[in-house]
Amino acid sequence: MLPVYNEQDGIREFHDRLSAAVATRPDLDVEFVYVNDGSRDRSLAVLEEIAESDRAVTVLNFSRNFGHQMAITAGLDHARGDAVIVMDTDLQDPPEVSLQLIEAWEAGAQIAYGQRRTRKDGALKRLTAHAYYRILHRFADIDIPVDTGDFRLMDRAATDVLRAHRERNRFVRGLVASLGFRQVAVPFDRDERTTGTTNYPLAKMVRLAADGVTSFSTVPLKWITRLGLVTVVLSLLGILYALALRLLLPEISVPGWTLLMIMVLFLGGVQMLSLGVIGAYVGRIYTEVQGRPLYVVQEVVQRGRGRGQGAESEG
Ligand code: UDP
Ligand code: MG
Repeated sequence: MLPVYNEQDGIREFHDRLSAAVATRPDLDVEFVYVNDGSRDRSLAVLEEIAESDRAVTVLNFSRNFGHQMAITAGLDHARGDAVIVMDTDLQDPPEVSLQLIEAWEAGAQIAYGQRRTRKDGALKRLTAHAYYRILHRFADIDIPVDTGDFRLMDRAATDVLRAHRERNRFVRGLVASLGFRQVAVPFDRDERTTGTTNYPLAKMVRLAADGVTSFSTVPLKWITRLGLVTVVLSLLGILYALALRLLLPEISVPGWTLLMIMVLFLGGVQMLSLGVIGAYVGRIYTEVQGRPLYVVQEVVQRGRGRGQGAESEG
């Protein structure tokens, strides 16, 4: 499943290379699902030509730009295979590596994700990406593998469970990590973009990064509670100080100052703490609203019937 946004110059070469790679495995029955995410260039026309000449191609055309993560989601909803591979169409995820993902799947993996050994982006992108993946790894409640984008293979069971996640602000790679299943990493070297420019300018990257943290962690909310506790302690100390000054050195204390200090500090402390309490409830509302499946049964083992295949999720 292949998201496309303004890739008119690279998409043809991409499809040729991917087809050539896949052709080395004639035993596989392959379907290519391209999602045109509201491209403003000729990408759709090029995709239509490709679909004309290759019966294995399906093109989903979005009515406008919904973003990379939604394009991936739509592709996963439409793909019908026993396994689905998600990859970028700008030749940064080398098409040949998808063969390695397939081999990992045949060796028993249910989710095989491409993990970047190296990347040939600019220094800023490399630095921010490096730092971001490590921060996310620390914050998130689940184990999101570092240096892993959306380039991955998922088997049918994992795909179906992922499709049961319908939240709006989605960070697909995090959702996949949270599924569990037998996951393996396939290391690869990320190539340079051959044509066009990145469709992830800084603003979009920051938004995706924020989605990543807020989808998998209520740590920011917990910080408010901590801040509230610290404020209460500090304001108690401040109140004691103001009282001591009033009682021990009445000659230097300004009339009204003590009461004012006590009120300001007390209210400040109470307010921060209350925000923390509200934050705890908001965190719960948030996870409820996400409506994720409560659990995922990977297989059912029962005497006399062997291992049941396929996964079920309950929402
Ligand atoms: N993409 C998309 N919709 C968007 C932005 C990007 O479908 O709004 C696609 C794009 O065509 C590419 C993939 O998502 O296949 C990754 O985008 P890009 O290469 O611009 O991101 P980068 O590799 O720079 O992080
Ligand atoms: Mg790219």
